[in-house]
Amino acid sequence: MADPNPAILGGTLLPNVLELSPRVGVALGQNPSMFTGPGTNTYLVGLGKKRLLVDTGSGLEAYMPVLEEALARVGCVGLEGIVLTHAHPDHIGGVDQIRAHFGEMPVYKRPWPSETGLSGPGGGVSPISVAEPDRQAHCRLERIDHGDVVETEGARLRAVYTPGHAPDHLCYVLEEEGNLFSGDNVLGVGTTVIPGGSGDLGDYMASLDRLLAEKPNQIYPAHGPRIDRGVAKIEEYIAHRRERERQIVAALAEGLQDVPAIVRRIYVGYPESLFAAAGQSVTAHLLKLEREGRARRSEAADGSLLWALVA
Ligand SMILES: [Zn+2]
Repeated sequence: MADPNPAILGGTLLPNVLELSPRVGVALGQNPSMFTGPGTNTYLVGLGKKRLLVDTGSGLEAYMPVLEEALARVGCVGLEGIVLTHAHPDHIGGVDQIRAHFGEMPVYKRPWPSETGLSGPGGGVSPISVAEPDRQAHCRLERIDHGDVVETEGARLRAVYTPGHAPDHLCYVLEEEGNLFSGDNVLGVGTTVIPGGSGDLGDYMASLDRLLAEKPNQIYPAHGPRIDRGVAKIEEYIAHRRERERQIVAALAEGLQDVPAIVRRIYVGYPESLFAAAGQSVTAHLLKLEREGRARRSEAADGSLLWALVA
């Protein structure tokens, strides 16, 4: 799921089916939206008669013929298993549909942590409203975690734990290529949303550092086209967040106290339709600064939050 910028997301069109490398094909999830851009990329991985599928889209009827076309295009006859990056509905939503069509198969995923609620100090504007833990409960998961490997003929996928966008998020290194399936942590369009409640910007920044250490050649993102300069893209993402943080600290230093005022300062020239999403991003930064002991909050008479730098 990406930050909704219609100028970027609405303008990106991708083919339904593509062969991206000898080991990787993609079938587009047929679920385009403000938050998914051209839709979710679902990736066929391996060289054998049966392949692994990384993520499953939203479970829409229009997806199954596209997946069948992708299987034919890469020259395989079925699926050996499903590998999930995280439990957001545009990634896990197709699991039942795919099992109904192709038969039972293992679904590999890191469980959503049970202690993580969906509402929290930053909550309120998250477009993710379904109960992700409930969704994953249906899926009879094979539990995997950081460092675990899922293998198929011709491909080894090594899990890299990357929380922040979602607390259960795994990326996967395709070891034969030195390339990365980045899920929603690095995108081919827009920037990653840090949902109020279940997201954590501090964790997300640490996850970007972890991905940078993998030095991926190319990145296969869950949304948008393949990224050909993986390391440069991750560095760009880190620089973008650091610059935002610098702007927010500067706004607090000038005495701006509430999220709407900070949004109006930083997002000058952006359409107001984006301000709710921008507010979510600013809130994520403020919560990170608070956890680091650099910002503190107080409550105004009307119950809204006021923020200040810690002197
Ligand atoms: Zn997501």
